[in-house]
Parts: sequence; C-alpha cells; structure tokens
Amino acid sequence: MRKIFIILFLVTLFTSCKKPVEQAANEPKAITVPFFVADSAYLYTKKQVDFGARVPNTKAHDECALYLSAKLKSFGAEVIEQKADLKAFDGTVLKSVNIIGSYNTKAETRILLLSHWDSRPWADNDPDPANRNKPVMAANDGASGVGVLLEMARLMSKNLPTLGVDIIFLDAEDYGQPESRGGASNEDSWCLGTQYWAQHPHVAGYKARFGILLDMVGAPESVFYREQASDYYAGSVVTTVWSQAKSLGFGQYFRDEKGGSITDDHIYVNKMAGIPTVDIIHYDPNSGTGFGTYWHTTHDTMDKVDKNTLNAVGTTLMHVIYNEK
Ligand SMILES: [Zn+2]
Repeated sequence: MRKIFIILFLVTLFTSCKKPVEQAANEPKAITVPFFVADSAYLYTKKQVDFGARVPNTKAHDECALYLSAKLKSFGAEVIEQKADLKAFDGTVLKSVNIIGSYNTKAETRILLLSHWDSRPWADNDPDPANRNKPVMAANDGASGVGVLLEMARLMSKNLPTLGVDIIFLDAEDYGQPESRGGASNEDSWCLGTQYWAQHPHVAGYKARFGILLDMVGAPESVFYREQASDYYAGSVVTTVWSQAKSLGFGQYFRDEKGGSITDDHIYVNKMAGIPTVDIIHYDPNSGTGFGTYWHTTHDTMDKVDKNTLNAVGTTLMHVIYNEK
C-alpha cells in the first residue's frame, strides 16, 4: 500500500511539474451562457403590441420608440436614436427612428443583431377586404424579434459577452408598396430604415464580423429554413447558427434545408453595408404567400406568439454570441 502510495505521489508530482502554468492558461475557459428567459421576451413583445400598431407618424409609434430606447438604457446599453425623415413610395414623409443599443463599444470585433420594430400600415393581405386598410398589429411581424433582442440585452447587461454587440431596432421596414397598387413591384420601397442606416451608419465606417436579422420569430411551430440570400452572402454564418440550434435540440425549428429568397432588411446590410448577415425568418413553403396565413392581416396578434419559439431563437443566439471568440 505504501509503495503504491509513493509511486502515485511521484506520478502526481511529475505530472504537476510537467504541467506548468502555461498549459493551464491554454485550457479553454468554461463558457457560461446566460439563461434566456422566454417569459421576459414574451412580455417585451406584448408591451409593444399594447401600444397599438406602431405605424410611423402615429402616437403608438412614438410611444413605443420611447419605450424601446428607455428599455435598452435600463439594460446598460449605450443608446443612439437615429432619427430620419424617410420618403415612402407614395411620397409620405415618415418620421422614423432606428434605435441602436451597443455593448462593449471599445471592442473592435462586433456582432450586429437586427429586427424591425414598425408595423405595416395596411393589412393588405387580409381575407376580408373591409380590413385591408386597417393597420397590422404586428405581434409576430416585428414585435417578436424585438422582444427576443430586448431579453438578450437584459442578459448581456449582467454578463457582458467578449465581443462587442450592437442591437438595432429598425424602423420603416414594412411601409412597402402594396401589390394592390399595381404596376411593377417596388422592392426598394421596403426596409427604408435599414437603407438609411446602411448609408449613414451610427459609427463612421462601421463594420461587424457578421449580422443576424430576426423577423417573424415567434409563431407556434415556426420553421426557419436557410434563406437563400443569407446562404449566398453569409453561408458560414447560417451554418454556425443552424448547427448551434441543432446541438441545443432546436432542429425542428431551424431546418437545415434551402428556403425561399426573401426581400428583407438583411439584403441591404449585405449589399450596402457589406456585413455578412443572415435572416432568421419563418417560412412556410405550403402557404400561398410563403409566410404564415396571418401575415399582413389583422390576425397578426399575440396569439401568434409562442414562448417555445421565442426560447428556441433566443437560446440559440445567446449560444452563438457567447461562443464567438
Ligand atoms: Zn411585414
């Protein structure tokens, strides 16, 4: 027994001598990823909807802007309100505001997180023609992505990630020309807030390692396919996000299959700002529009937001960000 003890002791000594401090320094540090609370994300989503439809140039829009800005500040972000008068396809001047919250502002390597916060002024896809001039409540098409990002902001304020993170709540995404107007489709009438930001970034020469856009990320049993423009501009980022989701058990939401090609804010961030950016967006290849049946109708209400989906998206993104070196 004694002999064995001595041998073991020597082995331990030898091993400890052979393992100098530098090896300890090389050992990967355990990464703690803050726990995403879907209940919070849901409440932040509901709070936006409670203001009413956040259509530019309305009271609900202005009140919600104040709420989003104050919320980011309360979560320790450095906040910039980027105000701009943007001209819609019909000549309407939209008093818009992109709301930007930054963490680790000194860090050179940055990640950009995006979601539009405005509501579409017309439910032009509503099955009932009488509803088509009413605004969209945009619980899923807008508020859900912002709700997820607000919860992430809350968590980041308590446990800063290694890299810099910028969250942008984009305005005037959904004021695009309705098909009912006829004529050629006017793709650039959408995503006005993003186009403005890409041309006037909040920091001169702004760059990020990559960007992630959230749009319609709350519906029950959502499916997020590999959107084609995301794969074209930022295929490796799509792979990182989708494989992270799968490893966390969210493969039923994040399908590692080719989806549609969608005009959304990420197009302008890729093309105009040159930041490889992916779009996480619910896509239903079996519906006529490619989106949920409530999309751009008066039925995009809080019952279209499910905590399980918010959780899948938020938890995945927290892991992506905190594992990035
Ligand atoms: Zn929309």
